[in-house]
Amino acid sequence: MTKLHIFSDFDGTITEKDTLIFLTTNLGGGAQLVEAIGRLIRQGQLSLSEGIAAEMRSIRRPFDEAEALLREKVRIDPGFPPFAAWCEQKQIPLTVLSAGFQQLIDLFIRREEFPHLEILANTLKPNEETGWQCVFRDKTPDGHDKAAPLRAAKKRGERVIFIGDGLSDRGAAEVADEVFAKHSLADFCRERGINFHPYETFDEVLKHLRNRF
Ligand SMILES: [Mg+2]
Repeated sequence: MTKLHIFSDFDGTITEKDTLIFLTTNLGGGAQLVEAIGRLIRQGQLSLSEGIAAEMRSIRRPFDEAEALLREKVRIDPGFPPFAAWCEQKQIPLTVLSAGFQQLIDLFIRREEFPHLEILANTLKPNEETGWQCVFRDKTPDGHDKAAPLRAAKKRGERVIFIGDGLSDRGAAEVADEVFAKHSLADFCRERGINFHPYETFDEVLKHLRNRF
C-alpha cells in the first residue's frame, strides 16, 4: 500500500482562531490594521510575508502578555489530539506547516504530548521597542513555501494529504493528492477546480480517513 503523509496548517485549522490576527487585533495595530493589510494582500500590493511582518511589527508588548491572552482566549480544535494519536498509531507521518510562528504553536502543542509530530514554522523575535520581528523560513512571498515539503514527500513516493483553511495554504492545496479545505481555501479550490473534502473540525477529517486507512 502507498505510504501516506498528512500535512496540516496550524492557524485557523488546528486552532479555532488565527493567532496572528488575534494578537494583531488585541495587542497590536487593531482590527483596522488587520483589515487594511488583508486588503493590500488581496490586491497584490503586499506579499503574505510582508503583511505578516507588518502585523507583528505593530505589537510592542512583552511576549508573556501575549502568552497569557492566547492561553485564555484561543484553543485548539478538541478533535486534533485524537487525530494526531490516530496518525501515530497508524504510523502515518503528520507535519504541521505554518505561515505563523513556532513560539505561538509551542503554547498549544506540547512536544511531550505529541513527540511524533513534525512542526515547520517561522520564528518570532518579540521586541517591545521596535515591535515584534519575524524570521521567515525562506525567501518566497509567503515566507514559508508550504508546497515544498509536499513536493519532497511526493518525490519519496508518499501519497500526500493536506488540511488547511487560508491564503498560505494555496500552494500546498495545488500540490496535494487530496485536500481537506474550509473557509477561503475552500473558495480557492472551487475557483481552481481542485477537488477537496469540505470539513469544519478534525473529528470529521478523522472519521473520513479512518474509514479508508
Ligand atoms: Mg490557516
